Amino acid sequence: MDLGIKGRTALVCAASKGLGKGCAMALASEGVNLVITARGKEALEATAEAIRKSSGVQVIAIAGDIATADGRAAALAACPNPDILINNAGGPPPGDFRSWSREDWLKALDANMLTPIELIKATLDGMIARKFGRIVNITSAAVKMPIPELGLSNGARTGLTGFVAGLSRQTVAHNVTINGLLPGPFDTDRLRANMVFNAKKLGKTPEELAQARAEANPAKRFGSIEEFGAACAFLCSTHAGFITGQNLLMDGGAYPGTL
Ligand code: NAP
Repeated sequence: MDLGIKGRTALVCAASKGLGKGCAMALASEGVNLVITARGKEALEATAEAIRKSSGVQVIAIAGDIATADGRAAALAACPNPDILINNAGGPPPGDFRSWSREDWLKALDANMLTPIELIKATLDGMIARKFGRIVNITSAAVKMPIPELGLSNGARTGLTGFVAGLSRQTVAHNVTINGLLPGPFDTDRLRANMVFNAKKLGKTPEELAQARAEANPAKRFGSIEEFGAACAFLCSTHAGFITGQNLLMDGGAYPGTL
């Protein structure tokens, strides 16, 4: 299927590795020019070069922390008028809520709620004026099924989801959609780091725990960043203009509900 977005421009945040990289690769393979961000310059440049080589699209790499005003300003200076915005950032650390300070909460809210809202605010009216826009927020399965030790993530991402639920109904008449992609377990550095945290508590090795978690998933495995990217690219396609305010759960069927 031709997704109809060849020649469009996307700002893909937090995209040197993992799910953001999967989205960047999938959009590039559809002929979308990219601005990608991450804090670490070396990995970001390597990803940008790999995407340029494999797809031939233009890829601009902007190193910076997207959760800061400076990081967002740099990304927007390189990409002031994106047709597609993929909001992503690292997730907050796991822990016990008794140990989290107000500062810890503000950090989580900044990265996983307020940064996407700031970037939407900066780019939405241009999309509306041009009569095309696709915004995808990478959140978490935790929005539907909270993860006990990831309370900072549960809280911040649900706040973003609630805000977008209202906004997305106001933009769709202009062919601008906003949706959430909710990853369950995808095999990335982030997932492996969470395994290390939980394995210690359970007296297992991270590898043992990863194998047990993969086995426990109805799909008997973790998801891949390519699968994630493909779903993201479809939500960004011309064919997805009637899909807005939705939260697509990608978890191999782990969420046990009917809806
Ligand atoms: P990952 O493999 O660790 O990759 C994270 C990417 O984001 C890296 O490129 C990283 O590069 C960049 N990044 C992190 N913080 C950033 C910031 N403040 N500014 C700019 N770039 C930043 O993580 P992932 O698994 O893809 O996870 C992506 C998001 O999905 C996270 O919020 C995570 O909590 C969420 N999630 C993941 C899973 C899963 O199974 N993987 C499940 C549910 C939710 P630098 O470190 O160089 O900045």
